[in-house]
Amino acid sequence: MKKHLSLLTISLLCLITVANSQTYGLVLHGGAGTITKAGLSKERQNVYETGLQKALDAGYFVLDEGGNAEDAVIAAIRILEDDSNFNSARGSVLNANGAVEMDASIMKGVDLNAGAVAGVTTVRHPIEAATKVMLSSPHVMMSNAGADLFAKEQGLEIMPTSYFITKGSQATLKGVQDRLKEQGSVESEYPDWKFGTVGVAALDKQGNLAAGTSTGGMTNKMHNRIGDSPIIGAGTYANNKTCAVSCTGHGEYFIRLNLAHEVSALMLYKGYDVEKAASFMIHKSLSDMGGSGGLVAMDRKGHISMPFNTPGMFRAYQMSDGRKSVLMFKDEE
Ligand code: ASP
Repeated sequence: MKKHLSLLTISLLCLITVANSQTYGLVLHGGAGTITKAGLSKERQNVYETGLQKALDAGYFVLDEGGNAEDAVIAAIRILEDDSNFNSARGSVLNANGAVEMDASIMKGVDLNAGAVAGVTTVRHPIEAATKVMLSSPHVMMSNAGADLFAKEQGLEIMPTSYFITKGSQATLKGVQDRLKEQGSVESEYPDWKFGTVGVAALDKQGNLAAGTSTGGMTNKMHNRIGDSPIIGAGTYANNKTCAVSCTGHGEYFIRLNLAHEVSALMLYKGYDVEKAASFMIHKSLSDMGGSGGLVAMDRKGHISMPFNTPGMFRAYQMSDGRKSVLMFKDEE
Protein backbone atom coordinates (compact mmCIF):
# COMPACT_ATOMS: atom_id res chain seq x y z
CA MET A 1 0.00 0.00 0.00
CA LYS A 2 2.77 2.38 1.03
CA LYS A 3 4.67 1.49 -2.14
CA HIS A 4 1.58 2.19 -4.26
CA LEU A 5 1.08 5.52 -2.58
CA SER A 6 4.63 6.67 -3.18
CA LEU A 7 4.39 5.55 -6.82
CA LEU A 8 1.23 7.59 -7.13
CA THR A 9 2.93 10.60 -5.57
CA ILE A 10 5.86 10.29 -7.97
CA SER A 11 3.53 10.02 -10.98
CA LEU A 12 1.59 13.05 -9.82
CA LEU A 13 4.78 15.02 -9.32
CA CYS A 14 5.92 14.03 -12.83
CA LEU A 15 2.60 15.15 -14.26
CA ILE A 16 2.81 18.51 -12.50
CA THR A 17 6.39 18.97 -13.71
CA VAL A 18 5.38 18.21 -17.32
CA ALA A 19 2.44 20.60 -17.01
CA ASN A 20 4.73 23.32 -15.69
CA SER A 21 7.51 22.69 -18.16
CA GLN A 22 5.80 24.65 -20.94
CA THR A 23 7.80 27.83 -21.34
CA TYR A 24 5.61 30.87 -21.90
CA GLY A 25 6.18 34.53 -22.59
CA LEU A 26 6.13 37.18 -25.25
CA VAL A 27 8.32 39.18 -27.58
CA LEU A 28 7.26 42.55 -28.94
CA HIS A 29 8.47 45.31 -31.23
CA GLY A 30 7.78 49.02 -31.33
CA GLY A 31 8.97 49.56 -34.87
CA ALA A 32 12.24 49.58 -36.81
CA GLY A 33 14.08 52.40 -38.51
CA THR A 34 16.77 55.01 -37.99
CA ILE A 35 17.01 54.33 -34.28
CA THR A 36 20.55 55.04 -33.15
CA LYS A 37 22.26 55.92 -29.89
CA ALA A 38 23.54 59.15 -31.43
CA GLY A 39 20.11 60.12 -32.72
CA LEU A 40 18.15 59.40 -29.56
CA SER A 41 18.70 61.42 -26.40
CA LYS A 42 18.88 59.56 -23.06
CA GLU A 43 15.55 61.12 -22.23
CA ARG A 44 13.89 59.77 -25.36
CA GLN A 45 15.49 56.38 -24.79
CA ASN A 46 13.87 56.30 -21.36
CA VAL A 47 10.50 57.25 -22.80
CA TYR A 48 10.60 54.36 -25.29
CA GLU A 49 11.99 51.96 -22.73
CA THR A 50 9.20 52.79 -20.29
CA GLY A 51 6.53 52.31 -22.98
CA LEU A 52 7.94 48.96 -24.09
CA GLN A 53 8.31 47.77 -20.50
CA LYS A 54 4.71 48.70 -19.68
CA ALA A 55 3.43 46.75 -22.67
CA LEU A 56 5.66 43.79 -21.80
CA ASP A 57 4.37 43.77 -18.23
CA ALA A 58 0.74 43.86 -19.38
CA GLY A 59 1.21 40.96 -21.79
CA TYR A 60 3.28 38.88 -19.40
CA PHE A 61 0.75 39.35 -16.62
CA VAL A 62 -1.97 37.78 -18.81
CA LEU A 63 0.23 34.79 -19.61
CA ASP A 64 1.42 34.34 -16.04
CA GLU A 65 -2.19 34.24 -14.86
CA GLY A 66 -2.87 31.41 -17.32
CA GLY A 67 -4.49 33.60 -19.96
CA ASN A 68 -4.23 32.73 -23.62
CA ALA A 69 -1.68 34.00 -26.12
CA GLU A 70 -4.11 36.20 -28.09
CA ASP A 71 -5.23 37.98 -24.92
CA ALA A 72 -1.59 38.69 -24.07
CA VAL A 73 -1.07 40.08 -27.58
CA ILE A 74 -4.09 42.36 -27.17
CA ALA A 75 -3.09 43.49 -23.66
CA ALA A 76 0.41 44.49 -24.78
CA ILE A 77 -0.70 46.17 -28.00
CA ARG A 78 -3.46 48.15 -26.24
CA ILE A 79 -0.80 49.83 -24.08
CA LEU A 80 1.29 50.82 -27.09
CA GLU A 81 -1.80 51.98 -29.01
CA ASP A 82 -2.49 54.44 -26.20
CA ASP A 83 1.14 55.58 -26.10
CA SER A 84 1.57 58.47 -28.53
CA ASN A 85 5.30 57.75 -28.85
CA PHE A 86 4.55 54.78 -31.06
CA ASN A 87 3.01 54.68 -34.51
CA SER A 88 -0.29 52.97 -33.73
CA ALA A 89 -3.67 54.40 -32.77
CA ARG A 90 -2.80 57.52 -30.76
CA GLY A 91 0.40 58.85 -32.31
CA SER A 92 -0.19 57.23 -35.69
CA VAL A 93 1.71 58.75 -38.56
CA LEU A 94 -0.28 60.83 -41.05
CA ASN A 95 -1.11 60.19 -44.66
CA ALA A 96 -0.48 62.72 -47.44
CA ASN A 97 -3.72 64.54 -46.56
CA GLY A 98 -2.74 64.86 -42.90
CA ALA A 99 -5.24 62.23 -41.78
CA VAL A 100 -4.86 59.06 -39.70
CA GLU A 101 -5.71 55.67 -41.25
CA MET A 102 -4.92 52.68 -39.06
CA ASP A 103 -4.32 49.00 -39.82
CA ALA A 104 -4.24 46.04 -37.42
CA SER A 105 -4.41 42.25 -37.41
CA ILE A 106 -4.34 39.29 -35.06
CA MET A 107 -3.90 35.55 -35.59
CA LYS A 108 -4.13 32.43 -33.41
CA GLY A 109 -1.72 29.58 -33.97
CA VAL A 110 -4.00 26.90 -32.55
CA ASP A 111 -6.70 27.08 -35.25
CA LEU A 112 -5.31 29.63 -37.74
CA ASN A 113 -8.21 31.90 -36.93
CA ALA A 114 -7.48 35.52 -37.83
CA GLY A 115 -8.97 39.00 -38.03
CA ALA A 116 -7.89 42.34 -39.48
CA VAL A 117 -8.97 45.90 -40.09
CA ALA A 118 -7.51 48.35 -42.59
CA GLY A 119 -7.89 52.10 -42.89
CA VAL A 120 -9.93 52.62 -39.73
CA THR A 121 -10.07 56.19 -38.47
CA THR A 122 -12.06 56.20 -35.23
CA VAL A 123 -11.40 53.06 -33.17
CA ARG A 124 -9.33 53.71 -30.07
CA HIS A 125 -7.88 50.19 -30.17
CA PRO A 126 -7.63 48.87 -33.74
CA ILE A 127 -6.26 45.57 -32.37
CA GLU A 128 -9.61 45.04 -30.63
CA ALA A 129 -11.44 45.77 -33.86
CA ALA A 130 -9.31 43.12 -35.59
CA THR A 131 -10.17 40.70 -32.78
CA LYS A 132 -13.89 41.44 -33.18
CA VAL A 133 -13.62 40.69 -36.90
CA MET A 134 -11.97 37.39 -36.00
CA LEU A 135 -14.44 36.38 -33.29
CA SER A 136 -17.74 38.10 -34.11
CA SER A 137 -17.94 38.29 -37.90
CA PRO A 138 -17.85 35.69 -40.66
CA HIS A 139 -14.89 37.54 -42.21
CA VAL A 140 -11.14 37.85 -41.80
CA MET A 141 -10.61 41.42 -42.99
CA MET A 142 -12.70 44.59 -43.06
CA SER A 143 -11.75 48.06 -44.19
CA ASN A 144 -12.48 51.78 -43.93
CA ALA A 145 -15.94 53.07 -42.98
CA GLY A 146 -17.46 49.58 -42.78
CA ALA A 147 -14.80 48.46 -40.34
CA ASP A 148 -15.25 51.59 -38.21
CA LEU A 149 -19.00 51.07 -38.14
CA PHE A 150 -18.63 47.39 -37.26
CA ALA A 151 -16.27 48.27 -34.40
CA LYS A 152 -18.78 50.80 -33.08
CA GLU A 153 -21.64 48.33 -33.32
CA GLN A 154 -19.52 45.83 -31.42
CA GLY A 155 -19.29 48.32 -28.57
CA LEU A 156 -15.65 49.29 -29.02
CA GLU A 157 -14.45 52.66 -27.88
CA ILE A 158 -14.67 55.34 -30.58
CA MET A 159 -12.64 58.55 -30.54
CA PRO A 160 -12.74 61.81 -32.48
CA THR A 161 -10.07 61.87 -35.19
CA SER A 162 -8.27 64.67 -33.31
CA TYR A 163 -7.47 62.14 -30.53
CA PHE A 164 -5.10 60.22 -32.83
CA ILE A 165 -3.23 63.21 -34.29
CA THR A 166 -0.24 64.55 -32.40
CA LYS A 167 2.00 67.58 -32.90
CA GLY A 168 4.85 65.15 -33.48
CA SER A 169 3.12 63.33 -36.35
CA GLN A 170 2.15 66.67 -37.93
CA ALA A 171 5.73 67.90 -37.72
CA THR A 172 7.04 64.64 -39.22
CA LEU A 173 4.62 64.87 -42.13
CA LYS A 174 5.57 68.49 -42.77
CA GLY A 175 9.27 67.59 -42.67
CA VAL A 176 8.83 64.77 -45.19
CA GLN A 177 6.63 66.83 -47.51
CA ASP A 178 9.01 69.83 -47.39
CA ARG A 179 11.94 67.61 -48.19
CA LEU A 180 10.13 65.98 -51.09
CA LYS A 181 9.23 69.42 -52.45
CA GLU A 182 12.86 70.52 -52.18
CA GLN A 183 13.98 67.41 -54.03
CA GLY A 184 11.28 67.98 -56.63
CA SER A 185 10.11 64.41 -56.12
CA VAL A 186 6.45 63.52 -56.46
CA GLU A 187 6.91 60.00 -55.23
CA SER A 188 6.00 58.91 -51.72
CA GLU A 189 9.52 58.21 -50.58
CA TYR A 190 10.08 57.68 -46.90
CA PRO A 191 13.40 59.29 -46.05
CA ASP A 192 14.83 59.06 -42.55
CA TRP A 193 11.94 57.06 -41.25
CA LYS A 194 11.25 55.65 -37.84
CA PHE A 195 8.45 53.24 -38.50
CA GLY A 196 7.19 52.83 -34.91
CA THR A 197 4.57 50.20 -35.66
CA VAL A 198 3.86 47.83 -32.78
CA GLY A 199 3.52 44.05 -32.75
CA VAL A 200 3.66 41.02 -30.48
CA ALA A 201 4.28 37.27 -30.69
CA ALA A 202 3.16 35.34 -27.61
CA LEU A 203 3.25 31.77 -26.30
CA ASP A 204 0.91 30.74 -23.48
CA LYS A 205 1.00 28.06 -20.77
CA GLN A 206 -1.07 25.76 -22.97
CA GLY A 207 1.63 25.94 -25.64
CA ASN A 208 -0.46 28.02 -28.04
CA LEU A 209 0.98 30.82 -30.13
CA ALA A 210 -0.58 34.11 -31.31
CA ALA A 211 0.63 37.23 -33.09
CA GLY A 212 -0.74 40.71 -33.65
CA THR A 213 0.32 43.99 -35.26
CA SER A 214 -1.07 47.53 -35.15
CA THR A 215 0.05 50.60 -37.09
CA GLY A 216 -0.72 53.99 -38.54
CA GLY A 217 1.23 52.91 -41.62
CA MET A 218 3.84 55.15 -43.21
CA THR A 219 4.15 58.94 -43.16
CA ASN A 220 2.88 60.61 -46.35
CA LYS A 221 1.24 57.41 -47.61
CA MET A 222 -1.49 57.93 -50.20
CA HIS A 223 -5.09 58.12 -49.04
CA ASN A 224 -6.43 54.56 -48.51
CA ARG A 225 -3.03 52.92 -48.98
CA ILE A 226 -2.93 49.64 -47.09
CA GLY A 227 0.33 48.28 -45.70
CA ASP A 228 1.43 44.80 -44.67
CA SER A 229 0.30 45.04 -41.04
CA PRO A 230 -3.35 44.05 -41.59
CA ILE A 231 -2.51 41.42 -44.18
CA ILE A 232 -2.39 37.94 -42.74
CA GLY A 233 0.77 36.30 -44.04
CA ALA A 234 2.50 39.61 -44.83
CA GLY A 235 2.73 41.49 -41.52
CA THR A 236 1.29 38.94 -39.10
CA TYR A 237 1.16 35.15 -38.96
CA ALA A 238 0.81 32.42 -36.33
CA ASN A 239 0.73 28.65 -36.59
CA ASN A 240 1.26 26.27 -33.69
CA LYS A 241 3.18 23.97 -36.05
CA THR A 242 5.83 26.63 -36.56
CA CYS A 243 5.86 30.09 -34.98
CA ALA A 244 4.14 33.42 -34.38
CA VAL A 245 5.45 36.46 -36.31
CA SER A 246 4.84 40.21 -36.30
CA CYS A 247 6.65 42.41 -38.83
CA THR A 248 7.56 46.07 -39.08
CA GLY A 249 9.10 48.00 -41.92
CA HIS A 250 8.41 49.18 -45.45
CA GLY A 251 5.12 47.34 -45.93
CA GLU A 252 5.13 47.14 -49.71
CA TYR A 253 8.12 44.77 -49.55
CA PHE A 254 6.60 42.65 -46.81
CA ILE A 255 3.42 42.24 -48.84
CA ARG A 256 5.30 41.23 -51.97
CA LEU A 257 7.38 38.71 -50.04
CA ASN A 258 4.44 37.46 -47.97
CA LEU A 259 7.12 37.71 -45.36
CA ALA A 260 5.51 36.57 -42.09
CA HIS A 261 4.06 33.45 -43.68
CA GLU A 262 7.33 32.73 -45.42
CA VAL A 263 9.10 32.48 -42.04
CA SER A 264 6.55 29.86 -41.04
CA ALA A 265 6.85 28.06 -44.40
CA LEU A 266 10.63 27.81 -44.13
CA MET A 267 10.18 26.10 -40.78
CA LEU A 268 7.39 23.82 -41.96
CA TYR A 269 8.76 22.74 -45.29
CA LYS A 270 12.49 23.20 -44.94
CA GLY A 271 12.93 22.33 -41.28
CA TYR A 272 14.61 25.67 -40.45
CA ASP A 273 14.56 26.74 -36.82
CA VAL A 274 12.87 30.05 -36.05
CA GLU A 275 16.15 32.01 -35.93
CA LYS A 276 17.36 30.69 -39.26
CA ALA A 277 13.98 31.22 -40.96
CA ALA A 278 13.46 34.76 -39.62
CA SER A 279 17.04 35.86 -40.31
CA PHE A 280 16.90 34.46 -43.83
CA MET A 281 13.75 36.43 -44.62
CA ILE A 282 15.09 39.74 -43.27
CA HIS A 283 18.78 39.56 -44.12
CA LYS A 284 18.48 37.73 -47.42
CA SER A 285 15.02 37.99 -49.03
CA LEU A 286 14.06 41.49 -47.79
CA SER A 287 17.55 42.96 -48.07
CA ASP A 288 18.09 41.54 -51.58
CA MET A 289 14.91 43.29 -52.71
CA GLY A 290 16.04 46.59 -51.18
CA GLY A 291 13.40 46.56 -48.44
CA SER A 292 13.92 47.66 -44.83
CA GLY A 293 12.49 46.51 -41.54
CA GLY A 294 12.45 43.67 -39.07
CA LEU A 295 10.27 41.24 -37.21
CA VAL A 296 9.78 39.45 -33.92
CA ALA A 297 9.04 35.73 -33.88
CA MET A 298 8.57 32.99 -31.32
CA ASP A 299 8.28 29.23 -31.70
CA ARG A 300 6.35 26.78 -29.54
CA LYS A 301 9.33 26.08 -27.32
CA GLY A 302 9.82 29.75 -26.59
CA HIS A 303 12.78 30.35 -28.90
CA ILE A 304 12.83 33.99 -29.95
CA SER A 305 14.12 35.70 -33.07
CA MET A 306 14.27 39.50 -33.62
CA PRO A 307 16.17 40.23 -36.86
CA PHE A 308 16.17 43.67 -38.54
CA ASN A 309 18.21 45.31 -41.30
CA THR A 310 17.67 48.90 -40.13
CA PRO A 311 19.96 50.80 -37.73
CA GLY A 312 17.65 49.87 -34.86
CA MET A 313 14.40 48.28 -33.75
CA PHE A 314 12.50 48.84 -30.51
CA ARG A 315 12.05 45.36 -29.07
CA ALA A 316 11.51 43.56 -25.79
CA TYR A 317 10.81 40.11 -24.44
CA GLN A 318 10.04 38.32 -21.21
CA MET A 319 9.92 34.55 -20.79
CA SER A 320 8.91 32.32 -17.88
CA ASP A 321 12.41 30.78 -17.81
CA GLY A 322 13.85 34.13 -16.78
CA ARG A 323 15.00 35.57 -20.12
CA LYS A 324 14.04 39.21 -20.37
CA SER A 325 15.26 42.39 -22.00
CA VAL A 326 14.31 45.74 -23.53
CA LEU A 327 16.46 46.71 -26.52
CA MET A 328 16.69 49.38 -29.22
CA PHE A 329 19.96 49.43 -31.06
CA LYS A 330 22.04 47.07 -33.17
CA ASP A 331 24.41 44.61 -31.54
CA GLU A 332 22.44 44.39 -28.31
CA GLU A 333 21.38 40.96 -27.03
N1 ASP B 1 4.78 48.04 -41.95
C1 ASP B 1 4.05 49.26 -41.74
C2 ASP B 1 3.41 49.68 -43.03
O1 ASP B 1 4.02 49.55 -44.06
C3 ASP B 1 4.90 50.36 -41.23
C4 ASP B 1 5.76 50.01 -40.06
O2 ASP B 1 6.02 48.85 -39.78
O3 ASP B 1 6.18 50.93 -39.36
O4 ASP B 1 2.33 50.20 -43.00
